[in-house]
Order: sequence, then C-alpha cells, then structure tokens
Amino acid sequence: MRSPPTEKVMDAEQTGASAGPTPVPGGSPRARVYPTLGPELLRDLRAGGYRKVVLQTPAGLVRDASTLSSQLREGTGLAVLTLVRACFGACDPPSPEEAPGAEAIVTLGHAPIPNMPLRLPTFFVEMRQEGRPADELAAELQRSSLPRRLGLVGSIQHMDLLPPLARELEARGFSPRIGRGGPRLAYAGQALGCNYTGAEQVLPEVDGYLFLGTGRFHPLGLAYAVERPVWALDPLSGELSEPLDREGMIRRRLLTIAQVTGARRWGILASSFDGQNRQGMAFALKARAEARGREADILVFDRLDPRDLVGRALEAYVSVACPRIALDDGEQFPRPILTPPEFLAALGDRPLLPYRFDTYP
Ligand code: SF4
Repeated sequence: MRSPPTEKVMDAEQTGASAGPTPVPGGSPRARVYPTLGPELLRDLRAGGYRKVVLQTPAGLVRDASTLSSQLREGTGLAVLTLVRACFGACDPPSPEEAPGAEAIVTLGHAPIPNMPLRLPTFFVEMRQEGRPADELAAELQRSSLPRRLGLVGSIQHMDLLPPLARELEARGFSPRIGRGGPRLAYAGQALGCNYTGAEQVLPEVDGYLFLGTGRFHPLGLAYAVERPVWALDPLSGELSEPLDREGMIRRRLLTIAQVTGARRWGILASSFDGQNRQGMAFALKARAEARGREADILVFDRLDPRDLVGRALEAYVSVACPRIALDDGEQFPRPILTPPEFLAALGDRPLLPYRFDTYP
C-alpha cells in the first residue's frame, strides 16, 4: 500500500507538529506521541494506571538516561526500568523478557512506525527541536548553489521546520517537494534510516535533496536511496554541508559485492526485533541461494554484536535485519555483509546497477 503522492507545501498537522499526544494516522492504537518530554506525558503516564514502565533512549541520549529516568520516576510516581541497550529506532522495543513486568514503554527520540504492531502501550517522545527561523534559513539557502527543484527531508527532531521552510523557499523561487512516503513512515518528509520512500516519490520532480537535521546517518542513507545529490542543513547552526560522494559510496558497495560473488557458504542475518523481523525474506533468500548452488544458514538474534560472528565457518553474510548493519557497520564484522538487493546481485539474479537501497517497507 502506498500513501498519497506528493504535496508541494505541508502544513503543521501533516508533519505531525503538535503540543500534546497525537495519534499517528494508520498507526497502532497503543502508540501515543509527544513532541517533548513534558507535563502531558507525565500526566498521561500517571493516568494510565501502570505500576512499572521501561524507558528506552537512543545512543545520543545515553549520557542523560539516568537523569531522564529520575524525571519520569519523580513526575509519575511509577517504578521505572532503564533499558541498557541503546534504542536505534522504533523498530526495536524491549520484549517482555527484556523488561520483566513493564506495563508500558517510553521511547525517546523516535516516531512510531505506523505499520508495526505494538505489544505494549508505547509513549513516543519525539524530542522535537526548534531550529533557527525558517525565513533566515531560506534567505541563506537562496544565496547557495542548491538546485531550485529541491526535495525536502527531515529528521524527526526537525519535522516542524519542513512546512515553513518549504513555504519560505517557494517564496524565493524554489520548487520544494515533500513526499508522503510509504506506510512505515509516520510523517510526510520523514527520514527513517531504512525507508526514504517520501524522498523517492518526488525524485522525478527534483534535481537534489536537502536534509534537515544533524549528523551523517540520514544523509548517507538518503544518498544510497536516491540518485541525486544530497545536501544537509543543520537547522540549529544553519551550516550547509557539501553533497556526499554518492558515486564513491556506491563504488565501495560494488567492491564489497565483488569480494563475495564466489562465496559458497552464506549466513542470513535475521533479527527478532518486532520492527526488523523479515524471516519470510530470510527463507526466500535461502531458497534463492540454494537454487544457485550455495549453502545458506539463517542466524537469528535481537541485537547483533560483531563478536557473535567470529569463528563461524561462513564466508559472507546477507542481512535481512536493519539495512544499516551492512551499510554503516559492515567493517566491524569479520566477513562482508550485504543487503538483500546486493546479495541478489552477487548471485547474478539482478543487475548491479542501478544501485538499489534496501528499503524496509
Ligand atoms: S530498521 Fe534500522 S534504520 Fe530502520 S528504524 Fe530500525 S534501526 Fe532505524
């Protein structure tokens, strides 16, 4: 199922900007969404009748996890468990075994994944941030060499900036485009590390993309997904990065594929996390490998540690878990890891180019 096509300029409601809990269209009724960790969240947790909740924080907030946990405890009177493993996305909620007795989850820094069922009530605190004013940023972008036909994509923290920036850019002669994207995305224009379908939808209408957010994680993923230059704008500092070297990135992936084209014994990496679990695909890839005279073993895990693959009699891996394991972390592992489209190219079942990003639908 695909969502409606593109919108030129979104309003605040469409990008999810709000002052309190909002349901995400098409999402789980167990999801509650908050822009920041504020009084509405504490009120709703108190009203929920829970005794114990589990707090999950992304890697960037691990330093503050204990302080945030105290805030929750003091603000609600509930028992709070703090999950040790960093949360990489809304795809990896703690299982009941991981957080015994927890009756609800508080997840910081992520939006819900609407097409992923939730086992427990989950309070998503998106940690939205206010950047510099849209008119100032647009005025600076007008003086840059950015293409005028521009796709806009934002991290969840900066979703609120997308509509006003699009309007300001339009007033300055740009043709900004924001794609709604597929059912894994909560908001139009949202960047998710495994799904850039919003950006892909507007590809024929743009000559480049502008990512609003910090860090390189999303610009890299976006550059794999779309055959256009990708710039990144830090909404807090206003700094505009140079476009990424997409050709070089793809060339390195093609070299990795070439290294393992002759591998006979493959491991298929399958995660048990609720939002990364593509076991059906794991079995389909195993059948494809065997049809090409290869052996393939399906290895299951929740979070993958490179040490878990040391010493195995396997020559190469394909990951059906988070696609960023292969693309961003592959060098930490003892053998090369491919994404599913790369694996099919290694088997000779699809062409190497055009490069295809492993979109998690
Ligand atoms: S699968 Fe990977 S990229 Fe997608 S939400 Fe999960 S951690 Fe993020």
